[in-house]
Amino acid sequence: MSLPLLSVASEAFPLIKTGGLADVVGALPQALAEQGVAVRTLIPAYPAVLAEAARVGAAESPLTPGLEAQAGPGRLLAFTSHGRDFIALDLPQFFNREGAPYLTPEGRDWPDNPLRFAALSRAAAEIGLHGIEGWKPAVVHAHDWQAGLTPAYLHYAGQPRPGTVITIHNIAFAGKCALSLRERMHLPPEALLPEGVEFYGSLSLLKGGIAFADRVTTVSPTYAAEICTPEGGMGFDGILRARGAAVSGILNGIDTEAWDPRTDAALAAKFDPLNLIKRGANKAELQARFGLPRSPDTLVYGVVSRLSWQKGLDLLLQVLPELMASGAQLAVLGNGDRPLEDGFRAAMQAHPGQISCVIGYNEPLAHLVQAGVDALLVPSRFEPCGLTQLYALRYGAVPVVGRVGGLADTIIDANPMALAAGAATGLQFSPITAEGLAAALRRTAILYANRTAWKQMQVNGLATDVSWREPARHYAALYRSLAAA
Ligand code: ADP
Repeated sequence: MSLPLLSVASEAFPLIKTGGLADVVGALPQALAEQGVAVRTLIPAYPAVLAEAARVGAAESPLTPGLEAQAGPGRLLAFTSHGRDFIALDLPQFFNREGAPYLTPEGRDWPDNPLRFAALSRAAAEIGLHGIEGWKPAVVHAHDWQAGLTPAYLHYAGQPRPGTVITIHNIAFAGKCALSLRERMHLPPEALLPEGVEFYGSLSLLKGGIAFADRVTTVSPTYAAEICTPEGGMGFDGILRARGAAVSGILNGIDTEAWDPRTDAALAAKFDPLNLIKRGANKAELQARFGLPRSPDTLVYGVVSRLSWQKGLDLLLQVLPELMASGAQLAVLGNGDRPLEDGFRAAMQAHPGQISCVIGYNEPLAHLVQAGVDALLVPSRFEPCGLTQLYALRYGAVPVVGRVGGLADTIIDANPMALAAGAATGLQFSPITAEGLAAALRRTAILYANRTAWKQMQVNGLATDVSWREPARHYAALYRSLAAA
């Protein structure tokens, strides 16, 4: 019998995406279906989600009186889109806002974000307790701070409840707000005790999940260990250590249908591991699109990333003189922090024909970059799992990554033993500093000159199983253990 599961998150590909969270929430349901887990995904009814619900036709359910008292009038919309079952939380006053889900048109966080996502969490808890359309989940799986209060609401309801899991996709986002918002979130006074959602004098939505979920997972085993340390825990390490064996890491997979170089419409030439030579046409198209001179033999590095401190791209700016001197090209697709955007724009002007950047978010171009570059740079200072290095493996780009978190768990470094065994899939470097990155770039150039070794890494990457099959097995086993309890 299939296990009914409610997944709750603030974004899900392909309906709404700002980052890797959406990829995970969007792709996991299909892989879980093969493991006998029937997922419904609760997301906010942003305009794009409302439009999709209207397009495919949705069944409407009322909110519970408790949720309406907390968050105002609204409804739940159940619909199927892209083969996934969604429940959209339509609270117009909170979610019917154009643009990026979390940001005002001026690019600041919406001041009521904590209340908006407390409402999302409350809705998940209500569905967990009362079901919807006669369907009731055995387990509720909350993702990140936006869904973090779900286990807390279920705990404080004091009724028989489904099992709960929270997955931390990035512990840097604690979802903090003033303690005084507690009442408007309809949390009981004891929630403000240190055992509750109190976090260094604030209220943290993520803490609700960490403190009260039956199991806490994160997206790689190494990150699971890192967040239990003062260096990596961003203040949560103490409580995470206290949760002991309830904390674990399960690697992300990727959507191998959306990311398939054999069928990808965004590519100039589709290819498979047996005709890697066709990648050359994608490299040429990439150079054309980025305004770089067409040069089949030049080592082309690529970046597809949010531009933020986490991603270590300021280190890349620091080592550009050496990179340029080596004769390589660099294509950057990204957006985010203004100083980094400006830094890459300036670098492009200083080195025309060698550095090019597209500042913005462009999904098809991200596919072409993966298919066209020789090496994908991911110099993150911390990285819970990271998806772009997995896309790189699948598209024949060699990942060059910092040795942290999921990057450490997914790339086999081209050390002498791994090369001798024919097992390497990329390069890892540490420490994650400008010097560390510069040394990695030198190693990359040497390996690139050795065409046999380079091709072997590409072939190994293409042969790596980056699908959701194995991760989904782990999640399914976790859900079953909770449902049985
Ligand atoms: P994070 O979630 O921290 O941003 P991940 O590596 O887990 O990092 O996921 C990033 C996702 O966002 C990937 O799917 C990547 O391709 C995509 N992405 C990031 N920046 C861009 C961009 N500028 N244009 C298109 N896709 C992007």
